[in-house]
Order: sequence, then structure tokens, then C-alpha cells
Amino acid sequence: MNILVLNCGSSSLKYQLLNMDTETLLVKGLCERIGIDGFLKHERGDQVYEANLPMPDHEAAVKIVLDALLDAEHGVLKSMDEIHAVGHRVVHGGEQFSDSILIDEEVEHVIHKCGDLAPLHNPSNLVGIRACKHIMPNVPQVAVFDTAFHSSMPKKAYLYAIPYEYYEKHKIRKYGFHGTSHKYVSMRAAELLNKPYDELKIITCHLGNGASICAVDCGRSVDTSMGMTPLEGLIMGTRSGDIDPAVIPFIMQKGHLTVQETIDLLNKKSGVLGVSGVSSDFRDIGAAAAEGNEQAQAALDSYWYRVARYIGSYTASMNGVDAIVFTAGVGENHIQTREEVCKYLTYLGVDVDTAKNDVRGKEVDFSKDGAKVRTLVIPTNEELVIARDTKRIVSN
Ligand code: ADP
Repeated sequence: MNILVLNCGSSSLKYQLLNMDTETLLVKGLCERIGIDGFLKHERGDQVYEANLPMPDHEAAVKIVLDALLDAEHGVLKSMDEIHAVGHRVVHGGEQFSDSILIDEEVEHVIHKCGDLAPLHNPSNLVGIRACKHIMPNVPQVAVFDTAFHSSMPKKAYLYAIPYEYYEKHKIRKYGFHGTSHKYVSMRAAELLNKPYDELKIITCHLGNGASICAVDCGRSVDTSMGMTPLEGLIMGTRSGDIDPAVIPFIMQKGHLTVQETIDLLNKKSGVLGVSGVSSDFRDIGAAAAEGNEQAQAALDSYWYRVARYIGSYTASMNGVDAIVFTAGVGENHIQTREEVCKYLTYLGVDVDTAKNDVRGKEVDFSKDGAKVRTLVIPTNEELVIARDTKRIVSN
């Protein structure tokens, strides 16, 4: 069974075609600058094909992806019939979706309504779904939600302490994101540790441009650091994460900012970029700090401290922790981040083997032999989770 996985952003579309009989990747690629001009990058193994192609809208981009999949030279399919299902990443499923689901008109309608909670993401996801429906009307399509894995959170974890009517009327609560990633790396950790998933207490740290932490207790998300939107929690590349809410009107008054300008400041100009004044990329910040840039060092110190603080707090949530997993761009590649975060956690029984920690982008248990709490690097694979869910749903 071949499954096409699509992740549509406002001006981009990432895709992967997977053979799900063997769980192997056939091709992957990216359409960028949709609605502006259009650029395709298509990769089959080591072969990379790049082209500037007009993409006035997402439907044009989906057509270009299908052409690339069927292309005699760099494609892998002979006919469209060889695509058996499409799995779409959808960011927000609200309270309605606790699992992935076959898309019909009712589901589309609910995804549209959840757009209130994720105005930057859900509308683009929906455009991708509609484009595929138009071009491939007979191919089943499945929505896989970033929020679904966290639907097991207890009320005490997801309620905000504001008047209850805001939860009842407007569904204001914590939802959490990166669910497919937290699910994948926590399941994989259990496999690597050779222990039953439903007996482990795992803390997963997805540290990319966006970053979140999740407490996975016996296979269920019981708390996570992102909130109603992906702005809450950890310090991120350009997002502030947790902040005293009273700071926000204060910033607005001092800077004479509108609501939208303030949201942009917190989403795009804050995080390690805002504190360091250098970059949102850990390679640049690390280099600046090594040259003595104090703001860059302050950004790193605050970032590590917040990650460690959340790990401590989620250890309390679960009354223990067996394994801590690092994933995504920073978690997989920034060796120093793992080392510095773990320094705060020796009291829990974390004991790092620095030689084993000296890896990038590879699965490794970098704890010392006999360490009470295992520390692992596991490269994430959100597309594989989307393809697995899509296969499960269309097979039923
Ligand atoms: P996104 O949230 O956009 O998917 P990623 O998970 O790809 O983000 O993470 C991107 C970030 O990972 C970069 O901004 C950078 O900070 C970090 N990163 C990527 N590669 C490296 C590396 N080799 N060393 C240190 N940091 C890296």
C-alpha cells in the first residue's frame, strides 16, 4: 500500500510517498513559494530534482507533486492508481478529534471550525485537503491531528485558571501540539529499551524551531508544554513560551503596539532570537556565545534552564521518570543542549556518557551503563506516524 503524506503550510507543501507494506520512503519533496511564484524540490534517494514551476495556488502545487511522482525520469509511479490513500497533517483538532479520521464533509467542516484556534495552520491544511479531493476524488483521505495524542490529558492538566465559562463557551484550554512526534519517539524509546510501552514513564523533548515537552505515562500523554496555541511553554527559536500575562499589555503600552503587532513580537521576534539578538539557529548562537557574546550565552542558559525545569515538573506529574528523549533539530543535533540540560537532572538519576552523547541525528542511548534514568536521542518521524494512522484507518 502506497500512502502520500502531505503537510500543507500557508505557502508551502511538504510531501512524502511511503510504501507501507515495508514502511519505506519512496520519495519526498517540498513545494515552496505557493501563491508567489513556485519552487519544487523533489528527492528520490540521493537524486535531487529542483525546478521553478508556477504554483498560483495549492491545487497547482498538488498537481505538480503528482506529476513529479509519475515522471518517467525522477518519479516512482506508473499511474495515479498506485496512490492508495493520502494522509494529511492537520494542526488543530480541537476537542472533537481524539484520533485520526477518514475525511468527509462533516470532518472538513469541523477542521474549518477549529481554524479559530489555529488561524495560521488549519486553513492551509484544509486547502490541501480540498485540492486533493478535487484532483483525486476516489482516493481516501485521512486527517492526522497534531493535538490528538494529547487528548488523553486529564482536565487538571488542560484547564487554565480563568473563569470556567471561557472553557465552556470558547473551548479555551491547553491542547498541545507535536503529538505525532511525541507519540513516535516515545513508542520508539520503549522499543529501544526493550520494555512494555504501557509500563514506562517517558518525557519527550521535541526541540526544533518550535519546541514542546510531553509527559507520556504508560503510553498516554498526561501533560505537554504547548497550550491552546503553540506559543506556550518552552523558549523556542522565535517564540517566547511562558510569560507573565501582565507583561503583554505592558509591552503594548510601552511600544504603542496593536494586538497583531504584539502577537508577532511574541511569535516571531522572541525566543532565543529575541534574547540573543543574533539568530534563532543554535549553530549561530553557539558560535556567538563561544566568541564571548553575553546575550547569546544568556539565551542558551535560559533555554536549557527552562527545558530542565519542565522535565522536573513532568517528573512530578508522573511521580517518576524512566527515560528522557531528545528529538527534532536541536534535540537531535545540538550536543551541548543535551549535556547542559542533563546537568540539572543528576538528582533524578540521570548520568550522561559524554562520549556516547557525541552524536548528531542518530538513535542512541547516551546514558552511562547503570544510570537509573535513560537518556536517548531519537530522530523524529512524523510522516511515518501519519502514514501508519492512514493505513490503519483506510484498512478498517
Ligand atoms: P522545525 O520546527 O522548523 O521543523 P527543526 O526540527 O528542523 O525545526 O529544527 C531546526 C533547528 O534545529 C535550527 O533552527 C537549529 O537551531 C537546529 N539545528 C539543526 N541542525 C543543527 C546542527 N547541526 N547543530 C545545531 N543545531 C542544529
